[in-house]
Order: sequence, then C-alpha cells, then structure tokens
Amino acid sequence: MSNDEKRGCAAFIGLGTMGREMAVHLLTAGYAVRGFDVNAEAVSGLAGHGLVACSSPADAARGADIAITMLPDTPHVESVVYGENGLLASPPDGRLVVDMSTISPVAVRRMHADLAQVGVALIDAPVSGGPVGARNAALSIMAGGDAEAFARAEPYFRAMGTTITHVGAAGAGQAVKLCNQLVCAINLQAICEALALGRASGVDLDQLRTVLLGGSASSWMLDRLGPAMIAGDASAGFRIDLMLKDLRLVQEQAQALAVPLPGTALVTSQYVEAKAHGEGANGNQALFRVYDRMTNRAPDA
Ligand code: NAD
Repeated sequence: MSNDEKRGCAAFIGLGTMGREMAVHLLTAGYAVRGFDVNAEAVSGLAGHGLVACSSPADAARGADIAITMLPDTPHVESVVYGENGLLASPPDGRLVVDMSTISPVAVRRMHADLAQVGVALIDAPVSGGPVGARNAALSIMAGGDAEAFARAEPYFRAMGTTITHVGAAGAGQAVKLCNQLVCAINLQAICEALALGRASGVDLDQLRTVLLGGSASSWMLDRLGPAMIAGDASAGFRIDLMLKDLRLVQEQAQALAVPLPGTALVTSQYVEAKAHGEGANGNQALFRVYDRMTNRAPDA
C-alpha cells in the first residue's frame, strides 16, 4: 500500500512491550505510523514494518491525524504533552490525542482541559489484555472523553482491540482501568493462596489448575499466569513495578473518594514485599514467590 492509499496517519509515542505490538497492528491495518520513543532501538526495531522514525513527540505529530501515547506512568505522559517539543505546543494536524497508558485520572482531566484550551481533544483509553492481547490485536480498550473525539479514535482502536467501550467523560477510562487492576491483583493473590495450600497438601498443581479452570474458580489470571507460577518462571510479562504503580493509582483514587479497599491494601503490601526482594522487573506471576518465602520454599522449588 502506498502512502497515498494509507487510511490515515498516527503518531505513536512509547514503543515498549505494549506500544510496539499496537503500532504494528496499525501499520498492518494500513495506517501510516510516525513513531517516537526515548529508546532509539525501540523505534529502529520497527523500521522493517514501515514505521517512520521521528525525533520527538512534535516531529511524530507532524502531519498526523491522531497522536497515541503508550508510556509507563503519569510523569512520562505529562512530559510528552507539556514538555519541550510536546503535543500541547505541537499537536497532530487532526487535533486528537489518545493516551492508552495507565495513569492518574486526575492528571487526565487536567490535560484534557489544557489541551481543550488550544482546540485539541484528549481521550484516555487504557487497555487490558497484556502483551498477548496486544500481539493478537485483542485488547479490551476502555475510553473516556468527548463522544465526537471517541468516534474519530474508534477506527484506530478497532485495529488494536476487540472490546472497545466508551465509558464516559475524560478520566472515566482510567477509573474503569483501576477497577480492572484491583480485580487482577486480588485474583492473582487468591491463586497464590490456592497454589500454596495445594502444594503444602501434596496436591499436583497442574491438576489443581485444570480443575479450577473447569469450574467457578476459573479466571484469566489462572489460565494465562498459572503455568509460569507453577513452573517458577518469574520472567517476562506485566512487570511487578507496573502493577505497583497501578495499585498506587487505585489507592489515590479510593482515598480521594473515601472508598475503603481493604483487599487492595493487603495485596499492595505483598507487591511491596516482592519489590523489596528484587522482583520489580519480574512478571506479575512472581507474586507467588511471596508465598514461597512465607512457606519457606525455595523460589523455584
Ligand atoms: P514499557 O516500559 O515496556 O514501554 C514504555 C515505553 O515508553 C518504553 O519503550 C520507554 O522507552 C518509552 N518512554 C518512556 N518515557 C518516554 C518519553 N518521555 N517519551 C517517549 N517514550 C518514552 O511499558 P508497557 O508494558 O508497554 O506499558 C505501557 C503502559 O501500558 C503502562 O502504563 C502500563 O501500565 C500499561 N499496560 C501494560 C500492560 C502490560 O502487560 N505490559 C498491560 C496493560 C496496560
């Protein structure tokens, strides 16, 4: 497909674990993609897919219909919006910014208002489904913001996900994502407890998982992360550090709204324990190592 025949042009900022897969799906769907990442290798690695390498957010936004960000945390998104060569001063031609990272809903509303001042729409559209969902273009995308802006972003979402939901005004996407994350963390904790008790009872853990998956205890976490937990494989996937960031955002939101979340508080302290033992860069399945330590088992025994 020649550039003239492209469906539209997206600036894509943040080409890490999730972003690179999502950008490739946009390219495959026929969009032109102008990419920027502070890690030059993340950009050059996608040249073979047709991604145009750019030197800053402003450079990526030049001539683009939409700018999509997929960055670790709130300060990274704020620097891409407000910083030198940022999107506030140099928005995409289509005057539409979509942040797909998981960040603070308060920061989203502030950026939404500041961008609106210069005639730019912001949609917060965090995702669920992990790297596998990103690779299979099967993400669940929960979007907050104005209906007209959502309608313009929706075709791009369709290239990256399967469940696309407009959940309300600016910040609503993040509010839903935070609910999603507390379910994921507490569910993972429940699986850790079942595996710890099953192991101590002398039960075969693969069989235990199969039984649970066939009944009312089944879950995405048990299905996708169970094998790595049982095998003691802590590498790869959604990092402990990123979930800790999300749990901090959950707690901030809950405290601001005076909603007690005792389950979240408990599992957060287990994630803190995991990080203190050097597991921050490991995948979330490494939460089981907290139970290894509590039951005096070698981590990969
Ligand atoms: P990542 O750390 O793998 O990728 C982030 C990328 O952003 C990196 O390539 C980094 O170099 C780049 N970056 C950082 N600061 C930048 C800046 N100022 N300008 C340009 N690029 C910059 O993270 P990820 O796993 O892809 O996650 C991205 C977001 O998606 C996070 O908010 C995370 O919570 C969320 N998320 C992740 C998963 C997952 O399973 N990994 C699932 C759902 C949601």
